[in-house]
Amino acid sequence: MNAKPRALSGVKPTASSLHLGNYIGAIKNWVKMQEDYDSFYFIPDLHAITVDFDPATLAERTRNTVAQYIAAGVDPNESTLYVQSQVPEHAQLAWVLNCITSFGEASRMTQFKDKSQKGGADSSTVGLFAYPMLMAADILLYNANFVPVGEDQRQHLELTRNLAGRFNNRFGEVFTMPEPLIFKETAKIYDLQEPTSKMSKTGLSPNGAIDFSDEPKVVAKKIKSAVTDDGSEIAFDRDNKPGVSNLLTIYSALTDRPIEAIVEEYRGKMYGHLKVDLADIVVEAMTPIRERVAELKAEPEKLDEIIAHGAEKARAIAQDTLSKVYDKVGFLAAAK
Ligand code: ATP
Ligand code: MG
Repeated sequence: MNAKPRALSGVKPTASSLHLGNYIGAIKNWVKMQEDYDSFYFIPDLHAITVDFDPATLAERTRNTVAQYIAAGVDPNESTLYVQSQVPEHAQLAWVLNCITSFGEASRMTQFKDKSQKGGADSSTVGLFAYPMLMAADILLYNANFVPVGEDQRQHLELTRNLAGRFNNRFGEVFTMPEPLIFKETAKIYDLQEPTSKMSKTGLSPNGAIDFSDEPKVVAKKIKSAVTDDGSEIAFDRDNKPGVSNLLTIYSALTDRPIEAIVEEYRGKMYGHLKVDLADIVVEAMTPIRERVAELKAEPEKLDEIIAHGAEKARAIAQDTLSKVYDKVGFLAAAK
């Protein structure tokens, strides 16, 4: 028996590279969690096609994300690392969950409202609307106890819990009730050019995000050209000094030092001092990751093997859960 609680999370392959926000807000925590949790980290490619996507680059982005997870410290021997579309049970369970979700409750999901408002009703897909039920399936298939996510995903986790409870009550106990694991100190990282919007893979400003794939020169340039605020005092004040506060958050996350200590150290110094030092810190954190990605991609067969092995491990569990669900719902068992 595995006594460790199970944790599950993923980052969508919606861009050619992950960014510093994904690292600080997600992957850095996952790496630490591997020891104490039975960890499942996956690449949600089914979720990536809920918004506009390019079939010519999706597979490469998915492979690249696998390499970036590993380079950042996800150990495929310790964690179960897999690609969502290679485990068909995700889509199969999502269908069942769609059928126990009311249209009204799905309509209340703020991520759908936000993302669909940007493009208008005719450019939003039914897939985007069904995203939260697919996410519920991702979690419930593996009986995950904890789901490390950002604050933005809290509502989806609440829906997942409602669906788990509803299914168990109506059809009989199958699912484990998951809890969100929201790290308070892993604050949200904001866009370097628009420090009131979150740093995102699909953000608008080209210099707003630091990508895992950025060369040191590019990293330094992006940090040095980050938008700062009026005045010259280095202080943490999210409302009045969003730019500097964001730089302090990144500094703190990468050095594991409290923000107050950093503010104290830079008392009387200029924004430029902070930026020069932060550029070095980010380059130092990201360079080994970028180099390791290149090594992993130079051995594609090895990467293929890791991906295949992960899918096999994940599928064994997913098949077991799905067959219980199908049985409870009353589907006729297929001949073996
Ligand atoms: P997209 O623009 O496609 O939505 P994204 O950059 O928001 O991409 P997701 O795949 O939606 O990335 O999120 C993956 C994980 O990274 C989640 O756990 C999320 O909370 C975390 N994350 C994403 N952006 C940030 C950020 N700016 N700061 C901290 N954590 C983040
Ligand atoms: Mg997102």
